[in-house]
Amino acid sequence: MHLNPYGEYAVLLAASLADDWPEDRAGIVERTREFGMTMRFSAEPGDHAGVREVIDDWLRVVDAHEPDERAALLNTEMAAAAAYPRLTDHDGEGWHLHYRDEKAGVAAVLRAVISVGTSLHLVTRGMHRLHRCESDPCTHVVVDVTRNGRQRYCSVRCANRAAVRRHRAASHPVKR
Ligand SMILES: [Zn+2]
Ligand SMILES: [Zn+2]
Repeated sequence: MHLNPYGEYAVLLAASLADDWPEDRAGIVERTREFGMTMRFSAEPGDHAGVREVIDDWLRVVDAHEPDERAALLNTEMAAAAAYPRLTDHDGEGWHLHYRDEKAGVAAVLRAVISVGTSLHLVTRGMHRLHRCESDPCTHVVVDVTRNGRQRYCSVRCANRAAVRRHRAASHPVKR
């Protein structure tokens, strides 16, 4: 498991867990595999609830709109979760950095990886590049990795729905 320079996979993993919460621990581990994490985790009884807490804390960062507030929340997360970085070359992945203790369970690992990855994403791409989909009532998370950094919707479907709504508002203006 490693973080690319932009921390992208960790933020996308967090968004995936937030948007489509797995019903058990196995589902969480499977999701980490889908996003490229290769390490085994020791199973602990509170894993499922523990990761839910990590995601709920992360959603507070998503919903914090001021950069100062985002930074403060992420700094708290990193202080709690991220150990000193260390170099590792496990599972034939090539040398890369880990940000937590080697024996941590899945909740602690995800708290470290997601908080560091989100911080890297925001400082590299821009502090505003993380928010909820703007197509009401959709609450999906948008991790904006586009070139221009103006992604407003989580999907083409939501973008289309918003466009239809704008069109209706324009062709049927409210009478005064
Ligand atoms: Zn690794
Ligand atoms: Zn949406």
